[in-house]
Formats: sequence, C-alpha cells, structure tokens
Amino acid sequence: METFKFDPKIFISPPFIKCPKCNEEAFGVLTINKNSYTRRCRECFFPKGGDRPQIYDLPKLNKEVIYLDQLVISEMMKSLNPKTKAYQKGQLDTFWLTLFEKLDTLSKLQLIICPDSNYHTNESLLSPYFEQLERLYKLLSHGVSFYDRGTIERFQVYENMKNWIAGRPDDPISIDVEDVVHGDINAWRDKLLISIKREWEEGGIEKLRQDRDQINSGFLETFTRWQSETDKDFDYWFHEEWSAYGRLVLQVYFNYLKTYVEVAIGKTEPTTNFIFPPDPVVLIHECHRVLRDAGLPDTVLWDKTVEYFSSPSLRHVPTIKISSMLYASLARKAAAGQKSPPTKGMTNDIGMISSLLPYCDAIFIDNECHTYLTEQPLCDEVNYGTKIFSPNNRDEFMEYLNSIEAAMPTEHLEKVSEVYGSTWCKPYTTLFTDE
Ligand SMILES: [Zn+2]
Repeated sequence: METFKFDPKIFISPPFIKCPKCNEEAFGVLTINKNSYTRRCRECFFPKGGDRPQIYDLPKLNKEVIYLDQLVISEMMKSLNPKTKAYQKGQLDTFWLTLFEKLDTLSKLQLIICPDSNYHTNESLLSPYFEQLERLYKLLSHGVSFYDRGTIERFQVYENMKNWIAGRPDDPISIDVEDVVHGDINAWRDKLLISIKREWEEGGIEKLRQDRDQINSGFLETFTRWQSETDKDFDYWFHEEWSAYGRLVLQVYFNYLKTYVEVAIGKTEPTTNFIFPPDPVVLIHECHRVLRDAGLPDTVLWDKTVEYFSSPSLRHVPTIKISSMLYASLARKAAAGQKSPPTKGMTNDIGMISSLLPYCDAIFIDNECHTYLTEQPLCDEVNYGTKIFSPNNRDEFMEYLNSIEAAMPTEHLEKVSEVYGSTWCKPYTTLFTDE
C-alpha cells in the first residue's frame, strides 16, 4: 500500500511576518474565514495545541454582485485559451482579455463577485470546452452559485401568495440575493480554489441538447403565430403569458397526481419524473402550507389554490412578470414584421434574466434582450435598480468596473495585502497555459 507523507508547512502561506514566539520572518497565513483569518509559524509551528489560536479580524465586505452571461464567459475563455480556434486564428477582440483582467483583479480585491448558475453549466456542457469554461466561471464565482430558476420562482410565489391572502397582491417580494444563492457572497475568500471534477454522462448531455431543440421548436411555432397577430398589442400578450403560468402549474400537478394513482394501483412503473416530482408539485404543497399557516381550514385549500393560481396576483411575481414582459416584447416585434426568429438560446436567456436580474447589482447580457429591457413598458416596470450592460454598451461596463476600483478606500487595499500579499491582485491570465 502506498503512503502519502505530507508537509503541514504547505498550508502556511505568505505574506510572512515576524513570529511572536521564535522571531523568524515565518509567521504566515493559515486559514481565511468569512470575517477573520489565522496565522501560524512555518518554523516553530506556533500556535500549537495548548496555545491560543492567532485570529485576526477582517472588516465586513459589501461586494457588487455581477452576473455574466455565457457569452462573456465564452469570449473570455477564448481570449485566454491558446487551444481554441479563435485564439489560433488571431481573431480575438482584445476587449475580452482586458475585461477578464479587470474582473479577476476586482474579484481578488474582494470588491465584486460573479456568481455562477445552472445556465452556465448547461450551456457549457454543450461546448467542446466544458472544463475550461467551468474553470473560468468558478474562478470568478468563488463557488457562489445561484439557485435554479424553479427554486427562485417558488420562493417568490410563496411570498406573493402571503401578500395575496393579506389583500396586498402588489406588495414587493422581500427576498434578497443572500436568499437565492449557495455560498456566502460577502465572505473573504480562500486563496485556494478547490474544485471537484464531476463526470458528465454523454447521455445526459445529449438529453440537454434534445431538450433545448424541443423547447426551441415549440417556441418557433409560437413565433409564427405572433407574426400573424397584427391586431393584438403588448398588454394582450403580457396577459396571455402570465395567465398561462397558473394554468400550467395546476395542469402539471394534476398530471402528476394521475401518475401517482396509476403507480399506486400498479398500472404503470415509476419513472425518474415520478421519483423527483416536478417543481409545480413542490410548489402546490408549499402553497397549501402557506394557506394553513394563514389559518384557512383544509376544506377550502383547493378552492383557494385554484383561485390564487387564476388570479392577477401572479403578475407581481418577478420571474413571471419579467419573462412575460420579455415574451410580449418578442411578440410585438414579430407582429410588427420581424422575419427571422430569435436565436436558439432565447428561451434560456429569458429564463436566466427573469430569475437572476432582480438579485444583481449589474448584469451583462446579449444585445437583443438588452434592447427589449430599454423599451416601454419594460424600462419602467422591470426596475430593480440593476445596471444593465451588453456588447452594445460594453465601454460603459468597463467604466462601471473602474469606478468600483476607484472608490476603494486605501485601508481596504492594505487589508487585502496583509492577508493575500502584494502580488495577489495580478490577474490570472495563465489560467489555461499553466497546466
Ligand atoms: Zn515561530
């Protein structure tokens, strides 16, 4: 059997200061925690078992939360990776490399965080550069990931249902970014990025591709219908979209219930869809809890559930409101004579924007969706204080990032150097050439 012998010194890293015990310049950083860090000596290993741990407090952080669309991750990866065709052909736009350098530096300065999402994972899995893309978005997210759309939507619907019961259906939803991510946004990050390599089955990726194509072909049919609806207006399509949501939830629930009965009486075999119930099933069960908590008797649970899922209260749920408005914008364009349908990624983009936008300080998306968000009524209605950027105004994005750096107090920079060393903030441009 092989044995590994490893030197505990490797966990003690620079910058080194004078050790209070042995006086050597060997007192380095051992761990970095949310709001503190610890030191230990590389020579005498002070503090040892009986000594008091050497803990240093760190100030609270207030990072800007920035979401980067897959297009940004992909362009930056190409700019850093000599193995890509774009890199080899020399067709790179230097903007993306400069952007990476800026984002990586600000993230190491603990000023920003760019959480990742399952949209990054799913879109990267369809690329030949999955590992490199994943490495890049994980570098900028420090392991902080948004919950999936279904979960975020569910949180919002519970809140909206509570407001609806209280007779205030248009009250804002009080959920903030910390409620919709795994991981801690405002933690001082560790120096090491430990990533677990997951193996993805080819079958799973194929399924992802099929799902995308299927959603896309359904969407194309809708697009053709919109092109013929020249007598309709924005409000019509907006209403059509949000009201379809409640119907769909009830429909999926009752279909599941039907399968449940069939499995129970031995008429069908359980499938994975049965073992992991779809989002609407979890949603309805949770809504029943909300109704019971509000003191409603079990005899009216279903009446109230159907009433709620048919009510205009749903228009105030951010995910439903934003996606319905974006689809209504697409419909308006189609009816106004747009010939070519939107790209394959459009439904994904709308899913991402509608679930994540309210929780970001800034978001970088594609030009098309950015344009829709600047049109009436979206520019007034989809207003969560989020700064919106796209390739169209990419210079403004750079100015925004520069302004974050410029506003950094000197003491903050000193703290960063104390914990990570003075060369730490140099951008990691050799991410793919160090291997
Ligand atoms: Zn020492």
